[in-house]
Amino acid sequence: METLTSAKGTVLTINDNGWVSAQLPDSGDTFGFWLSDVVDRNDGKIHGWVEGAEKKIGKTIKGYVREKAVFLADDPISDRLLELAAQFKAAQTEEKAAEKKKEKERFGRLVESGVAFRTAEVPAQYDCELMWARRFTAEEKAQYTDWFKELGVYSLPAGGRIKVEREAIMQVVGNRPADAQFNGCTNEAWTITEDEWNSIVRLSGEIRAEKEARRKRNEAAEAADIQAKIASGFCFNCESWCHGDCGNYSSDPNVLAVRNFKRAVTEQNYGIED
Ligand SMILES: [Zn+2]
Repeated sequence: METLTSAKGTVLTINDNGWVSAQLPDSGDTFGFWLSDVVDRNDGKIHGWVEGAEKKIGKTIKGYVREKAVFLADDPISDRLLELAAQFKAAQTEEKAAEKKKEKERFGRLVESGVAFRTAEVPAQYDCELMWARRFTAEEKAQYTDWFKELGVYSLPAGGRIKVEREAIMQVVGNRPADAQFNGCTNEAWTITEDEWNSIVRLSGEIRAEKEARRKRNEAAEAADIQAKIASGFCFNCESWCHGDCGNYSSDPNVLAVRNFKRAVTEQNYGIED
């Protein structure tokens, strides 16, 4: 813990966990922020985070911070605060790396002992993914309803996860009923072999390449269509071959593109979907 007093009279107490509480000079009001937020902006100035702090601490103090400018960059407290923030960030990074290493080792042991297995997840609302998982321990099972005890699994992120196409999973698992379900969201999951994992990855790549090729073909067809319309005197204002009858003849396809864009935005704003 360290206490700093700014030239403006604000007292900052920096806690070991990186939380800073600030007490304003006149009113004695307090607010807080994370030390790590100070260096997140990379502009080398304390001034920058005031913006972020405003958002966090709400309107009352927002006005106060702005008017009194309690932490301007020329305040001598800035250098020390930045130094502490940099130290804290470095320690945090180191800690995270150590945690990750431990997690990887733990995962390696779970794979070796056969507890960890590969899965393919098809969630109702998110992208499909391949990832490693494990069943619940007897202790964990006690927390779940009967039907979920044996079906439920926990993911093991240390094994990595790969976003894949839904169709690729369905092609590989075929009619096999889902034999797993991840905790936390609506989903169906299958335990899969390494070969199946690799097949899904390969198929997924093929499906994506196909989709991309289709998209490019559509784009090219659309461009050709527009060129043909321009060549034949199509009016992009009234969307017909009006030969000027609409009074606002335009051979510029952007006129239509802009209108379609505005229409799409309006529909989005009103939540209309077709
Ligand atoms: Zn026209």
